[in-house]
Amino acid sequence: MNKYTQIRQAAYDGNMQLPKLGLVIFTFGNVSAGDHDLGVFAIKPSGVPYEDLTPEKMIVVDFDAKIVEGNLRPSSDTKTHAVLYKHCAEMGGIVHTHSTYATAWAQALRDIPNYGTTHADHTVYDIPCAAPMSDTMIAGDYEYETGFQILNCLKENELSYRDIEMILVGNHAPFAWGKTVEKAVYNAAVMEELAKMAFLTEQINPKVARLKQTLIKKHYERKHGDGSYYGQ
Ligand SMILES: [Zn+2]
Repeated sequence: MNKYTQIRQAAYDGNMQLPKLGLVIFTFGNVSAGDHDLGVFAIKPSGVPYEDLTPEKMIVVDFDAKIVEGNLRPSSDTKTHAVLYKHCAEMGGIVHTHSTYATAWAQALRDIPNYGTTHADHTVYDIPCAAPMSDTMIAGDYEYETGFQILNCLKENELSYRDIEMILVGNHAPFAWGKTVEKAVYNAAVMEELAKMAFLTEQINPKVARLKQTLIKKHYERKHGDGSYYGQ
């Protein structure tokens, strides 16, 4: 047992949830668990199948993506996670997947519109899609720049990472986060479901309107407001 045991276990548990929830195939996706007091996070190693993962195989890196402990190569998306932890002091877990429906919206370069109360129960906002990366950013430190692509998109939408815990990276795929790894995994699964519902909604009615403000407010507040009473 050392000081990283807890984040290693949390990162392992989070990663193992992804195939179970149908959010990843093969070695797609990665989950990390952050510890802001220690200034490190634990993340999945690169290219290891989910069934071969163990808590001990999680790699501990600092917020500059330097390896602190671990023998394997950390996930190729490690620098993206590092940028987010460095700039978001209350982010305790990050999830990246290429889940089908959310990725389809990211590839279509569209925000996921809030079409119904399921969406409104989780967020009042459309799930933003970050603009495609510029050629200069692509030519630079790609995974590092992906972190800034996310932070820039939040800023452009005048949102903080506390306002919304899910985003699409244009041309690429979704990222989700939360105060804990469990919440981040939950958000990744919810985002996929919202993406699927929004897609189907537009198939059934291509002219569908967004959910009206009164309903958005009502649903969000009954779950998150001071007088929240909702528990399904
Ligand atoms: Zn990816």
